Amino acid sequence: MSATVGSPSKTILDDYARVVGEDVIDQLRQLARPLEGLKVVHVNSTRLGGGVAEILDKLVPLQQELGLNSRWEVITGEGEFFQCTKSFHNALQGHAVNIPEHLLRAYENTNSQNAERLRTVLEQADVVVIHDPQPAPLLKLCSNRRGKWVWRCHIDVRQPYRKVWNYLKEFLLDYDASVFSLADFAQPLPNPQYLITPSIDPLSEKNMDLPEEEIRSVCRQFKIDLERILLLQVSRFDRFKDPVGVIQAYRLVKKFVPKVQLVLAGGTATDDPEGEAVLEEVRRQADDDPDVHILLLPPDAHRTINALQRIAHIVLQKSLREGFGLTVTEALWKGKPVIGGDTGGIRLQVINHHTGFRARTPEGAALRIRYLLHKPEIMQEMGRKGREFVRENFLLPRQVREHLTLMYGLFHGDQDRIHVG
Ligand code: UDP
Repeated sequence: MSATVGSPSKTILDDYARVVGEDVIDQLRQLARPLEGLKVVHVNSTRLGGGVAEILDKLVPLQQELGLNSRWEVITGEGEFFQCTKSFHNALQGHAVNIPEHLLRAYENTNSQNAERLRTVLEQADVVVIHDPQPAPLLKLCSNRRGKWVWRCHIDVRQPYRKVWNYLKEFLLDYDASVFSLADFAQPLPNPQYLITPSIDPLSEKNMDLPEEEIRSVCRQFKIDLERILLLQVSRFDRFKDPVGVIQAYRLVKKFVPKVQLVLAGGTATDDPEGEAVLEEVRRQADDDPDVHILLLPPDAHRTINALQRIAHIVLQKSLREGFGLTVTEALWKGKPVIGGDTGGIRLQVINHHTGFRARTPEGAALRIRYLLHKPEIMQEMGRKGREFVRENFLLPRQVREHLTLMYGLFHGDQDRIHVG
């Protein structure tokens, strides 16, 4: 049953039905019915900035609308805690980082303090989903837990630095399940492992259609020339996103296509202490080139990012490691070919010759950019395919469905068949 636009009973689920189809939404309602009232708590370490916050901001309200009693808690911490967790991030993505003892103590103490504040909510929840390593120790600190606990890893942990992984693993052993974005990331853990790829919300300010005038005003605001080619990368200023490599690729393109401009749009997430230093490296590399626009945006600049993704001719995500890369999904949804790093979740999204090209080096990226700029009809066809690829695979309702089926899995794990409804 669907409500008509403007009718009083219209819900956001009806809006999603227009994008993904009625049957997808009906299936969600059916799956959610037996889970009505289930107390679900998601925990991460920042409400703003980065992909996890972006996902939870949309996933939790949709779970609520489906009748689950879902909430989102954010752990708080100081400088040493975030220094430590950033080092975890770097180590899990493969860097040999030795983390001093005092930072590990700050990590554990911060989790103890947060457990004091959150213990009642967490112990009473039916399902707790802990996102990434920052809040991982909370489980050991909630000894009277009654629900199932899931560790949801968003990081590219294909080849973690073993010393740090072994330390963190101690906190993960008692979880009832773990969830990764790619099969490649699965780790030897004693609990069942599930695969769930992230998603974007097509109705959010980040991804909705925008009025032409708003897009033009963003160009005026940042002095972007609409008559010229625009390359774009949107990312936190993080070395794994390789912003310096993007500038190098742009320079190689510019030798042949002088009218090209580059926008590097980013901000700093509140749980990322290295952003400032990387931003400095990027500014040095840009060397006051008037055609390189480095935009430091506030964390809620969703419409601005949306507009930039719409005016770009080609979007880059030249990451060296990438858990998934929501920025890739966002660009594909806007019909843009993406030149992405040949790594992690980008491999799921950027399909060579179909939705874009994967590149390992600035030279490789530049070559692919030049190829596409010479073939506007191929760019257009890739854009069309990219949008449909996202519609099929990477929109929020699919991720919500997988979270619902995960919950069935948690409560009926050893059964061959589960009767729904
Ligand atoms: N983002 C943003 N402002 C910025 C940089 C990034 O809103 O200045 C958003 C971006 O649009 C995407 C998310 O943050 O939705 C980044 O997610 P992704 O998976 O690409 O990378 P992560 O930051 O989680 O490593």
